[in-house]
Amino acid sequence: MAKDKVIIIGGGLGGLLCGCILSREGYSVTVLEKNRQVGGCLQVFARKGHVFNTGLNYTEGLADGQILNKYFKYVGVFDKLNLARLDMDGFERITYKNEEYKFAQGQELFIENLVEKFPKERQTLIKYVKDIEQISKKFPLYNLHVDSYQIANWEVYEQSIAQYFDSLTNNSDLKNVLCGTNMLYAGLPNKTPFYIHAIINNSFVNSAWRLVDGSHHLAISLANIIKENGGKVLRNKEVTKFRFTNKKISAVETKDGELFETDFVISNIHPVNTLKMIEGNQVYGAYRNRIMSLNNTIGMFSLYIVLKENSFEYQNYNNYYHKDISVWGAENYSEKQWPQGFMFYTLASSKSLKYAESVIVLSYMSYQDVAKWENTWIEQRGEDYVEFKQNKAEQLLDLVEQKFPEFRNKIDSYYTSTPLTYRDYTGTPEGSSYGILKESDQLLKTIISPKTKIENMFLTGQNLNMHGILGVTIAAVMTCGEVIGSDYLVEKIKASID
Ligand SMILES: Cc1cc2nc3c(=O)[nH]c(=O)nc-3n(C[C@H](O)[C@H](O)[C@H](O)COP(=O)(O)OP(=O)(O)OC[C@H]3O[C@@H](n4cnc5c(N)ncnc54)[C@H](O)[C@@H]3O)c2cc1C
Repeated sequence: MAKDKVIIIGGGLGGLLCGCILSREGYSVTVLEKNRQVGGCLQVFARKGHVFNTGLNYTEGLADGQILNKYFKYVGVFDKLNLARLDMDGFERITYKNEEYKFAQGQELFIENLVEKFPKERQTLIKYVKDIEQISKKFPLYNLHVDSYQIANWEVYEQSIAQYFDSLTNNSDLKNVLCGTNMLYAGLPNKTPFYIHAIINNSFVNSAWRLVDGSHHLAISLANIIKENGGKVLRNKEVTKFRFTNKKISAVETKDGELFETDFVISNIHPVNTLKMIEGNQVYGAYRNRIMSLNNTIGMFSLYIVLKENSFEYQNYNNYYHKDISVWGAENYSEKQWPQGFMFYTLASSKSLKYAESVIVLSYMSYQDVAKWENTWIEQRGEDYVEFKQNKAEQLLDLVEQKFPEFRNKIDSYYTSTPLTYRDYTGTPEGSSYGILKESDQLLKTIISPKTKIENMFLTGQNLNMHGILGVTIAAVMTCGEVIGSDYLVEKIKASID
């Protein structure tokens, strides 16, 4: 007999993973996705035959026995992915004060590479690597522990990145280098909790991978698994309203007027947008006010470049470039200083790994920079917006050429996006890159529970505890754990991969 009906709002990674887990458990799953393409940040677009990712450059923890490998095997998606492991001895190349530093995979190599540059800091680096590993171990679902799925050890959350590094060393160059990939979490040194830095860096040091031929393969594979399990994934279905019966959601309504009856709902969209669809008296003021008042992480300006044929070698690593003596660029930059740095990577294509066909360059961009066009829509924002983007692209290319001289000569054509693009494609407020900003001095406020004040509505996705492929996967397990029992779910995951 089929179990309850569940409607999942949003076919991003979080919604699709919940759909896979619950459909596998016999629930009658329907995912409603507003866009033509599923995947949210895993969506891609093509220009001149080249596929560009919009929000997944590389991912972590996919080697045998590692955590994302286990979750993806349980869900049934691991074998469907075409993965390329990044360079073991330098998957990240961080340019800081015109010097390049490499992050390696594997703790020992990671330490040795950096000791070459910081010979007096061996003990500091050993401590850092141990600390990020220890902190990751404190989160049960990062280790598939069954004792308690809840995030334990609140004191871990309360340390900001700056507090941790100030206690680690006085060597400001080393601090900057270790935080040189902060674009991965849009970090603010005095606000972002150190656990976010620790989990991300620890899992990438464990292993770092690119998806070959585009991130949409992950989303499409997950959607297919839901369908194989008897569920539905419906596109072009924007949810606009909830219908309530006795304080519980009995149906959701889509923009085209269709009504979907349900026993419970999982919302994969930003909590603010979820609450906007619920009338005031169904959710208490305090909860609503708290969610509505939260800050979001900064957005990105992206440059998508088609390269001239055989003009630029494929790089099996990512570049992070910082022009200043500080690597932190997400807050308080002035128009004149922009861009303060960038992330640059070549896309992995199954056609050729000798030469790159395309490149993506990312740089932080505040919503304020594009707010004057906020009442416009994709492709209809006007000539001044096109000109703005063109100027930004050229400024960014000037900086790129400091790292890769004459890079412009290798470009066939380029395309751009701003935080407004993300706002309109994924619905994330202000085009934030990673959703709600986690703040170490306001933990209880900024960490979101999958449970809500409505008995039969749950939240999932990057806004709960952590963004990124790993963070969203953990969130999906937490959310589904609320529905089917977390101990039961963790045991099933463990049993399926034994
Ligand atoms: C530029 C950029 C680069 C990134 N790079 C990496 C990386 O290298 N590695 C990594 O691990 N992570 C990366 N991330 C983060 C990662 O992509 C996200 O954290 C993750 O994909 C978010 O998944 P989600 O399901 O929580 O949300 P989303 O992907 O935002 O999904 C939400 C979905 O809900 C849909 N939706 C919204 N409103 C409605 C509605 N009313 N009705 C129906 N559907 C709706 C949206 O269309 C979307 O499909 C990057 C993000 C960005 C922006």
